[in-house]
Amino acid sequence: MIPLTDRRFFIATEQDILDGRTTDVYFARTLEILKAKGLMDIRTAAEITVSRLPRDWKWGVYCGLEEVLRLLEGKDIDVWGLPEGTLFPARTQSGIKLPLMTIEGAYSQYCLHETPLLGMLSHSSGVATMAARCRVAAGDLPIFSFGVRRAHPAIAPMVDRSSFIGGCDGVSSILGAEMLGRPANGTMPHALIIMIGDSVEAFKAFDEVMGPEVPRIVLADTFSDEKTEAIAAADAIDLYGVRLDTPGSRRGDFCDIVREVRWELDVRGHKDVKLILSGGLNEVTIPPLVRAGASAFGVGSSISSAPGIDFALDIVERDGAPVAKRGKFSGRKHLYRCPDCMGFEVSMSDNVPVCRDCGREMVNAEVKLMERGKRIKPAESPDAIRDRVLKQLSRAVI
Ligand SMILES: [Zn+2]
Repeated sequence: MIPLTDRRFFIATEQDILDGRTTDVYFARTLEILKAKGLMDIRTAAEITVSRLPRDWKWGVYCGLEEVLRLLEGKDIDVWGLPEGTLFPARTQSGIKLPLMTIEGAYSQYCLHETPLLGMLSHSSGVATMAARCRVAAGDLPIFSFGVRRAHPAIAPMVDRSSFIGGCDGVSSILGAEMLGRPANGTMPHALIIMIGDSVEAFKAFDEVMGPEVPRIVLADTFSDEKTEAIAAADAIDLYGVRLDTPGSRRGDFCDIVREVRWELDVRGHKDVKLILSGGLNEVTIPPLVRAGASAFGVGSSISSAPGIDFALDIVERDGAPVAKRGKFSGRKHLYRCPDCMGFEVSMSDNVPVCRDCGREMVNAEVKLMERGKRIKPAESPDAIRDRVLKQLSRAVI
């Protein structure tokens, strides 16, 4: 353990998290009392639910499960639940809180991990859900996650992974991209143009120094008008695209700027030059820009600073008997999903529920993820999880 006084940054180490040192102290006290009273081995079932989603969200993207499984690995517990990348509403069709994950085993096995487990799911799922909402807003156009600068650097890989899983096509941080096994996406900062001293000279320097694998996308709003700089760039180098990051003080109508730059490039024969937009974009501001002629988007803080989702973990069965606190439904439930409308329902027996919306027989939605602390299946790749998200988004039912 590295003493706090020897640490450069204010972050927990992986070992701190595994040892339960980031957990709320009342769980550590509970464990101490259970030990003193000989209650360490009583079996429980506990489920993770969400009472309501943030804002007006009808669904969330379940993300962060891979980290949770790594946290729980080696504990004497069984874990059941939805696969990562599932789109979920807070409630089932009959209004019961959806059990996204169920843990079976002695409470003492996972008591110290409740806090980090909820934090992992809350933050990752919030980011993934907002990425998915921006993904839908952008239609078929690419979106890139540029938001790591709005989050603590220690969690940049988590932010980028969640953004990618939610539907971003690429991420900007070097480490995040490395984790995803893909090249990092980026253009050029205003600082490069200021350091070179002239926009066109900066574009030429970029073209001269960067390898052929780096797309020639220049920032066309540093010293003068967007269309002037975009045309100058297209005339100076073999341009892939221009990024417009027009400051708020100059923005006026960003859609009109996009339309004008598109027009002026087109009439000069630069129809292939893409327009990549960035700067304070979100799910509301993206759709009009799609219609105005944007080619791609860089989205920052609206994704990386997305609201967290309030997951809760509650015991629903103690020593084989159903029990729950006020406001929660007791008993180990089994989760089913309609293959057509994607709505969920729970069942306490082997009876398979029928979808309230379309009358179709539902199918089992739970996967056994862990048995006695051992993973059932190898970890899924972020690409596979992202594909699951995109398939559900394309059906856009919930
Ligand atoms: Zn249905």
